[in-house]
Amino acid sequence: MHIMLSCRQQLERHYGVREGMALYRIVMEECFALSQADILLGKDSEISRSDKCRLMEITGQLLKNVPLQYILGYADFCGHRFVVRPGCLIPRPETEDLVSEIAGLDGRGSLLEIGTGSGCIAISLALEGFDVTATDVSAEALEIAGQNAVRLGAKVEFVHENILHPVPSDRVWDVIVSNPPYVMCSEKDGMDANVLEYEPHLALFVPDDDPLLFYRHISGYALRHLAQGGRLFFEINHLLAEETAGLVASAGFRDVCLKSDRYEKKRFLCACV
Ligand code: GLN
Repeated sequence: MHIMLSCRQQLERHYGVREGMALYRIVMEECFALSQADILLGKDSEISRSDKCRLMEITGQLLKNVPLQYILGYADFCGHRFVVRPGCLIPRPETEDLVSEIAGLDGRGSLLEIGTGSGCIAISLALEGFDVTATDVSAEALEIAGQNAVRLGAKVEFVHENILHPVPSDRVWDVIVSNPPYVMCSEKDGMDANVLEYEPHLALFVPDDDPLLFYRHISGYALRHLAQGGRLFFEINHLLAEETAGLVASAGFRDVCLKSDRYEKKRFLCACV
């Protein structure tokens, strides 16, 4: 059997034809500069011996469910290329809608992101003109985010902080945004192996008996640290949308509203102080 066909076939068998082919296409494009047209013309079977070795290595990792973005070492988000490693979550396409929502605000002011991970939200908004501070509990995530800020030329102040035990301060921000861990442990059953086996659980999961843990802490923090007229933005678990809105309203925020993402799931919440 031909070697090229074999990698592609293995991917199609493991991931299903559609996803397997999509992965193969991205690998060809990103690693070997071959377009879909090139694949149709069979140019993928003409790659050099060392490229063939590389393709087999990448295929092997994909068959072990390693996310493609970790293999490539980057993910694109809001038109920027972010370095990603297993120490941070891979940016999700729907999170771009949260960035657009905030970028659509009239003014530009100070902004705090809590739980920045790869830094994709904080950096995209710094590049949109906000004066950004970003925190994370993970030193490894902060290192990746710092690297991304330098590469993309964004000025962001990074702070190592656990939002469950914040250091007392009297700083205020115009906007506070967070995409905290919100996946309940009971949702694990329906999740893909690449997420479950390789992405940091610290950034994903919350206990079933207290799934709004971070929203409760961040809402309280935001009430104390938002300037007059400030706004709070969250990415949320669509399964808990109404409960999250109720929590934010009873914390004392007004104009709490839920917004859907591109997949029609209630995924974002915004509120004013
Ligand atoms: N949306 C992510 C996922 O589907 C979860 C992000 C988060 O927990 N904040 O895996």
